[in-house]
Amino acid sequence: MEHSVAQHDQGGLRTLPGDDLRQILWQFTDRYDLQMLVQAARAVARGPVARLVAEGARNSHEWTAQKAELLKAFDASGITAVFMDPSQGGFVEGPKNFALALVAFELSWVDAGAATCSLAGNLGLSPIHERGTPEQRDTYMHRAVPPQPGEDREIWRGAFSLTEPLPYVGVETGLLGGKVRVREWEDGKEPILQVDKRGRFITNMGFANFVTAAVDSADPRIKGSCMVILEQTDPGVFDRGVPTKKLVHQLSSTCDPVFSLQVPASRIVGGYSLKDGVIVPRYSHGEIIEAVFRRTRVTVGLMTAAKLLSAVEPVIRYQRGRFRGGESIAPGSPRYELGLQQKEDALHRLVDVWATGEAAASLGFAAARLFDDLDPLERQKDEAFAAQGVGGGSAQMRAFRRVQKDALEFLALQAQSAEARDTSRYQALEAETLVQFLVKDALANVLCPACKLWNTGHGANMMREAVSLMGGYGITEDCPGFLGQKWMDAQLEATYEGPEAVQRRQLSVTMVSDLFLTQFRGWISEMRGIAVRRPGTGACTLATAMELWLWTLRHLQEATDAHGGKLYHGNRQGVTFPLADALCWLLASRYQILDLVELDAKGPENPVLAEGLPDLLGFLTDLCHVQAASASGEVGRVCAELVYGYNRHAAWDGGVGCGPDACDPLSVLGADASGSTMPAGPKAGPCVRFDGMEAFVRLRLKLDGCLTGVRLAKDRAADALTQVMIPEALDYPA
Ligand SMILES: Cc1cc2nc3c(=O)[nH]c(=O)nc-3n(C[C@H](O)[C@H](O)[C@H](O)COP(=O)(O)OP(=O)(O)OC[C@H]3O[C@@H](n4cnc5c(N)ncnc54)[C@H](O)[C@@H]3O)c2cc1C
Repeated sequence: MEHSVAQHDQGGLRTLPGDDLRQILWQFTDRYDLQMLVQAARAVARGPVARLVAEGARNSHEWTAQKAELLKAFDASGITAVFMDPSQGGFVEGPKNFALALVAFELSWVDAGAATCSLAGNLGLSPIHERGTPEQRDTYMHRAVPPQPGEDREIWRGAFSLTEPLPYVGVETGLLGGKVRVREWEDGKEPILQVDKRGRFITNMGFANFVTAAVDSADPRIKGSCMVILEQTDPGVFDRGVPTKKLVHQLSSTCDPVFSLQVPASRIVGGYSLKDGVIVPRYSHGEIIEAVFRRTRVTVGLMTAAKLLSAVEPVIRYQRGRFRGGESIAPGSPRYELGLQQKEDALHRLVDVWATGEAAASLGFAAARLFDDLDPLERQKDEAFAAQGVGGGSAQMRAFRRVQKDALEFLALQAQSAEARDTSRYQALEAETLVQFLVKDALANVLCPACKLWNTGHGANMMREAVSLMGGYGITEDCPGFLGQKWMDAQLEATYEGPEAVQRRQLSVTMVSDLFLTQFRGWISEMRGIAVRRPGTGACTLATAMELWLWTLRHLQEATDAHGGKLYHGNRQGVTFPLADALCWLLASRYQILDLVELDAKGPENPVLAEGLPDLLGFLTDLCHVQAASASGEVGRVCAELVYGYNRHAAWDGGVGCGPDACDPLSVLGADASGSTMPAGPKAGPCVRFDGMEAFVRLRLKLDGCLTGVRLAKDRAADALTQVMIPEALDYPA
């Protein structure tokens, strides 16, 4: 029998993970409303959305009547109303980040353009939701919700217009070409504004009834920038513009609109005050987009995670059926039953795709849950500041500087065992809104860009792997699971709402905050603890990789390059960006492992899961291990390049090349470093400054040792892929 998969001591997998498992893993077992929402979104995704893709609706740039049917499906299924509070006609109580993440995940399982179409409406509303006046919120949220029984009205759809034709807004959001001026201002009356804005790549523009647009003042009677609400019936020009010739997400509408409209000043998002005859918007456009994107970017990260996990079943089916029907291939023979799954590489690559998808989903859902925790805290924080008479912006920053000490003390107490710590102080700080807000905010400021960056960027690379596993079929429209389209779509997810550079830039600032790094240090002990209780998860590898990352960060913050230049610096993207990337690998792997721990704890309580649970746990443990090893490899590579790469090679300065022992960091450990079998060449002298690097060298060595067993885990996971049962056919297009 040609079966190159090694024999294993344990493991197996009977079925693919189902809803019961996912609910525990992503922590919504107690949310029946969300479980129902998942079913509703799935029915739309695998029904109307899948049929549209199969019928070739992605082959046009225009917003067609056929595509518009999607909006009706969103309305009927409850997807449109998820964003609203029950008082506005919605049905999900409380924060909705996690609910929206689940919807995006389900829709993107089939087509992320459909997900974008649904979410872009929320994005259009988001400036109003996050920073609008109560009247603006009531008006537009109510109009955007589907009619309630007894109501007869059109549903208003929104679009968000920030990006402008070149050379204006893209990554640099401050370079605004859109302008606002006072057009009329009669005494005692509301000023009328003239808004001129051109958009580039604006989603939902083919049908939006209103647009939230970013504009800058071109009038001394208006201060700074703001966002304004534009309606299609406002006097002037509301030109939807030409459709963008996208190669991706064709189930959403994207155009380059032109607006030249007159609107009352009450359309300024968040309102305004009058100071010495000048209109002062309450929020600049920058403040509003910051509040908006920090939530919506998490959802985008989950779109790519869904794609990766959705690839597993079609690839397994393709691999198994690859040779069936061939003359000499009899049913029951390994070639018939396993097909390409007889080949180790095909299995190992699918394990990598699957592990990445799990890690991406864990990171994304953790971020979405965190924002659900943060939302009420943020409101309480605003109320507390208002009560103390603390205004926005710099006044809040000053107030937070005082709270930061308490927040750090809280984290220090949290790191102690319950017996050792000062319980009353701990409880007091735990009850402090501002302390809790600061702690969670510091984490959210890292998790959001990390999830957007890693899930979409690395996710797009891994979608290519998934496509390649389907051979030529992968790059055809007929590929089951639409994998080719998903690969390309992933690139858009890495681009819109701020491309990777934007996320890396944000991370390079937020990941060095004391509040984040204190939490990060705590995670190293947390992973060491998990490694003891659940060996085989890769937690030990991850803890060492985290130590290495932390050491490298500290080193780069203090060290200079061979020319005396500062290394960790905002302009030094060659240093800060790779380090941000490396952190993302660690985060994704950590949340994957934490979800596994959750499943381990809560899984046995679920009777549906009970029987297959040990197999599933074993398999998911192996995936964690595989992913932790990939993460540590990436982190090791990045850190070593940054730590050594900015030194000059002393030997080269003397015109001497490298001797066999010249670049051996082991020399700092006092070992016979090289172990080289090369004949000794001319002595190159000490070529690299290894002094003070002992800890780094030891950690690098330790990291290698931590990889022990990971290939056995990969073999076991690969073997499980040959055993898992999958349905006869994919459940979409139905
Ligand atoms: C299909 C689609 C739908 C979209 N929907 C919307 C929408 O609804 N509303 C909206 O407002 N916008 C929308 N966009 C616009 C999108 O958000 C922007 O395209 C994106 O933010 C990037 O801007 P840009 O294209 O101008 O790229 P650029 O700013 O020109 O960037 C080009 C490249 O240079 C890099 N770069 C730029 N600045 C820096 C820097 N400082 N440091 C390092 N690298 C840098 C970028 O990372 C990128 O790789 C959409 C785009 C597309 C394609």
